[in-house]
Amino acid sequence: MSIFDWIEDRRKLKLLNAPKSRNSESDGSKGLWTRCDSCGVILYIKHLKENQRVCFGCGYHLQMSSHERIEHIIDSGTWRPLDETLSPCDPLEFRDQKTYLERLKEAQERTGLQDAIQTGTGLLDGIPVALGVMDFQFMGGSMGSVVGEKITRLIEYATEQGLTLILVCASGGARMQEGILSLMQMAKISAALQVHQSCANLLYISVLTSPTTGGVTASFAMLGDLILAEPKALIGFAGRRVIEQTLQEQLPEDFQTAEYLLHHGLLDLIVPRSFLKQALSETITLYKDAPFRKRGFIPSHIQSVSSPVFIPTAKQESVSRE
Ligand SMILES: [Zn+2]
Repeated sequence: MSIFDWIEDRRKLKLLNAPKSRNSESDGSKGLWTRCDSCGVILYIKHLKENQRVCFGCGYHLQMSSHERIEHIIDSGTWRPLDETLSPCDPLEFRDQKTYLERLKEAQERTGLQDAIQTGTGLLDGIPVALGVMDFQFMGGSMGSVVGEKITRLIEYATEQGLTLILVCASGGARMQEGILSLMQMAKISAALQVHQSCANLLYISVLTSPTTGGVTASFAMLGDLILAEPKALIGFAGRRVIEQTLQEQLPEDFQTAEYLLHHGLLDLIVPRSFLKQALSETITLYKDAPFRKRGFIPSHIQSVSSPVFIPTAKQESVSRE
């Protein structure tokens, strides 16, 4: 073997052993080109991002990261994140092919997030709002105790401050690695929403993006005063195959799409991504002048639901950010 062969071998070995760079992420967010999930046309990512990740060929709405969504919904420079350092632990010491902690670490490194949601406040066309955006790239947007806790804290903050609440859903459902602790979040969030909507008479708008499924659909996604969805979004509880096998029936082609749900009265409006900010802004402006609006508060006989359920399952830790 010549010295050049040896160097070439070493180079190949180094490339093989190198940690996968972000270029090879499945979402292709750092590469140059990607493929439309619907029509298969090749898309230049730079132009796709400028078009809010809507396919130029067929108008299909591709998945978007929570950072991109916040950028498109909230006025530039006004985003103030809440509970950014809240990160999950592993109460059940869950393990499948990998341990839960390994999966978490991997997702955190890949997305730069602590868990599958970002919450915070900001201005939407100059109107202050409380916004939560789920991120499907973090373990399929699954809802564990941290996601549940962050949403609950956001709702309670919005209630106290009299803010309109917007939650953008993108989730595969409850996080199985946290078992029953994930399912508990559904009740906790719903209780906080009850106070926000019914006691404080404040507005909650849920925006359903593809996919919104499982425990998220079965709780806060469907509790919005107004429920908006993106075109052709997959929205459902159980998967199509499970239902077909249980019922022994063939389901319609457009089953569990936003259009099907709108037709059957489960949604209020389907809004293309490019009009979402405008639609939200106009709705809130209209509602702002409603005579029954009052500054929100959590009534004294109803205790805050956030912390007590949360303490044994997750920890608040400070993460140094560079
Ligand atoms: Zn397409």
